[in-house]
Amino acid sequence: MEGTRDTHGIVFESVCFTYDSADGGIEAVAGVDLAVAPGEMTAVVGRNGSGKSTLALLANGLLHPSEGAVRVDGMYTTEQEHTWDIRSRVGIVFQNPDNQIVGTIVEEDVAFGPENLGVSRPELRFRVDSALEIVGLAGMARREPHLLSGGQKQRLAIAGVLALNPAYIVFDEPTAMLDPAGRSDVLALMERLRRDGHGIIHITHHLSDVSTADRVVVLSQGRIVHAGSPADLLGQADRLGEWGLELPPIRRMVAELGRLGVNVPADADEPTYIASSLWP
Ligand code: ADP
Ligand code: MG
Repeated sequence: MEGTRDTHGIVFESVCFTYDSADGGIEAVAGVDLAVAPGEMTAVVGRNGSGKSTLALLANGLLHPSEGAVRVDGMYTTEQEHTWDIRSRVGIVFQNPDNQIVGTIVEEDVAFGPENLGVSRPELRFRVDSALEIVGLAGMARREPHLLSGGQKQRLAIAGVLALNPAYIVFDEPTAMLDPAGRSDVLALMERLRRDGHGIIHITHHLSDVSTADRVVVLSQGRIVHAGSPADLLGQADRLGEWGLELPPIRRMVAELGRLGVNVPADADEPTYIASSLWP
């Protein structure tokens, strides 16, 4: 049927976005075509200023394209009658959880969004409890958010988004402010949400965080300059620098060993595997 493929998903069609400024404007997104389906994870990488966060804000209508269009499950983000529907279908999780937490206790914070949408009491209770369960904070419903660790705060922010029942979630560098433990908890949670059927856009700087994505797109000056599998991107070692990206530390080490004449398979990324090929 004509158009069914497009009915579900976030679809960017030749999207441009220019921020107004005194000297004529900054073109932050310059002709992006991208489609994200339910149950898929698309990673977006690129140097600072390449347009990643602008793309995130375009995905749920917080910004409107200057040219082109963004559709969410068939609805244009510029159609005012769909504004709230689109905002709850596409949740955004930002870098700094402190900026997303509004409640003085955990469960109150999670309830804030759906409460404002007029969700009924019993439904609210159900949504808050299930969101806290999913993010692993069920036992902390009565805690004060400021007493949580960074990783727990970010999971609380994710619970707040989940309570809106989003089909899609855009994560804008969600692990940038977290310690390694918090970071791996949040990455594992994102995996789970994808398995549960959410469509995920994962914006990040860290190529080590994109290995499970269905595909990775590289943004440079507001344009998609490369799209492919995570392995495909890591194979472009020569071009990564040009895009402001770095190989993950372990892959850098393997590349360095190769240059020193030590033979380790170039795609090795498991410490024990690398060790066993060095000392068989
Ligand atoms: P990224 O998230 O990849 O770092 P952004 O989308 O934040 O990139 O920024 C893309 C470009 O738009 C940059 O040149 C940035 O300076 C500019 N920009 C971002 N936000 C604003 C804003 N609110 N007003 C003006 N320019 C902005
Ligand atoms: Mg950004």
